[in-house]
Amino acid sequence: TIINYAKMGMRHKDAATRDKCFEKILTAGNRAAKITNTVLGIARNRSSGQEPTDLRQLIENTLVLLEREMNKYRVTVDKRFEPIPEAYINGNQVQQVLRNLLINARQAMPRGGRLMIRLSHDVKNNTIDLVVRDYGCGIPPEKLRRIFDSFFTTKDVGQGTGLGLSICYGIVQEHGGNMYAASKPGEGAVFTIEIPVASDRQPVASDA
Ligand code: ADP
Repeated sequence: TIINYAKMGMRHKDAATRDKCFEKILTAGNRAAKITNTVLGIARNRSSGQEPTDLRQLIENTLVLLEREMNKYRVTVDKRFEPIPEAYINGNQVQQVLRNLLINARQAMPRGGRLMIRLSHDVKNNTIDLVVRDYGCGIPPEKLRRIFDSFFTTKDVGQGTGLGLSICYGIVQEHGGNMYAASKPGEGAVFTIEIPVASDRQPVASDA
């Protein structure tokens, strides 16, 4: 976008066209800076261990990276974030889970629609609950039973590998958490992840 509008501005000498080009260049430049900062932030955090993490910020970062795709397919994201404590997680892995869920949800709504992300603290179980709900095609019961299996996909060759949700499930298990799905065909799908709160899983100091 930036290059094309710069070329257009060079070609057209009138002030109105040039103003419009500068505006487009500024908007695209700001967007590029936002994405670059997000990617750099993620790269800086690329540790392999689990550490106390602000899940809300992690979701916001993931959404920045998916913003273009969501806009393209006219998917609006409805965020319901309640105050939550930090979670003891591997940010990169949990971000991978989130990306998978959001892309699946988007793909389930080819004509666009609403996608809801809810974040809350279950005080009783001391878990952080993350819910991704879409209002797309939904999943029939016989498929719902198999979606966490490796290589189970209903997508065309080159579109789906069927590995997404099985990897997500593994990642959540590694975090001592739970992941499950519910759906009614035609009414969309709900994916829930429960992750133990940081204080539950602080490493125990060893004597060695
Ligand atoms: P892939 O996306 O590569 O097919 P996944 O493991 O992520 O693999 O998903 C497995 C299958 O589960 C998908 O092919 C699709 O049929 C179904 N699925 C996953 N998420 C949704 C959703 N939000 N709505 C409808 N179907 C879904």
